[in-house]
Amino acid sequence: KIDETTWLNEFGGLVSNSGHASPDIMINVNKISKWYGDFQVLTDCTAHVHKGDVTVICGPSGSGKSTLIKTVNGLEAFQQGEILIDGISVGAKATDLPKLRSRVGMVFQHFELFPHLSILENLTLAQIKVLGRSQSEAQKKGLGYLDRVGLSAHAKKYPAELSGGQQQRVAIARALSMDPIAMLFDEPTSALDPEMIQEVLEVMIELANEGMTMMCVTHEMGFARQVANRIIFMDQGHIVENCSREEFFAGARSERAKDFLSKIL
Ligand code: ADP
Ligand code: MG
Repeated sequence: KIDETTWLNEFGGLVSNSGHASPDIMINVNKISKWYGDFQVLTDCTAHVHKGDVTVICGPSGSGKSTLIKTVNGLEAFQQGEILIDGISVGAKATDLPKLRSRVGMVFQHFELFPHLSILENLTLAQIKVLGRSQSEAQKKGLGYLDRVGLSAHAKKYPAELSGGQQQRVAIARALSMDPIAMLFDEPTSALDPEMIQEVLEVMIELANEGMTMMCVTHEMGFARQVANRIIFMDQGHIVENCSREEFFAGARSERAKDFLSKIL
């Protein structure tokens, strides 16, 4: 973990000048709106993820969940609002975005491992290229995380030799190898066969219990029930619900959320 001053020096960028910076908030999404041409995909979205907290985002297909999570680490631009990661503005011109992004782990629905590289090479590539680590340092780190996701025996294999669940655990280990200050997940289990979902969720639950700050798009409500501090429900580009796990599962929620949940729970 790097301290605040190093963080600012290393990444340039701006601390918020709009008064929304808070030392306890790791991911601060503040009134984000985004358009694709004439189509408004996000409207006035606000969400705060405190350090060490887990926020789960759910909602119907096309509601803007992937778009929202991609704006957080600058994979998608936005036209209005502000996003701060540990006080650094994602949208500010002065911010070294590739560097900032390298410290925000992202795990997608599809594992996106490099098929022509071994598992260990998948784990070391960005550490060497982006963080400038030596090969031995990167391998040590990579093997450590591979062990943590229970796959150290597979270091020399290629992605195609692993099951979907194993590949997704490698993708998580790869993200962790970059020493992320937060992890973003976009439906990490939705492309998996049912029998492989649990092994990936278990890794995520462990990560959450260790205090990782996480923002997870998922419809795995068992996971949400176990580790989520807050649950966001999106519909048509709006954050319709943003409440504590207790509130959410107690049933105090909008008709749209109720209707959606009745179909997935
Ligand atoms: P979700 O992840 O909740 O299913 P998305 O964020 O992927 O939703 O998409 C939200 C809406 O934005 C959808 O209507 C989708 O068709 C639209 N959309 C997503 N990406 C693009 C794009 N690159 N250009 C235009 N429209 C897009
Ligand atoms: Mg999506």
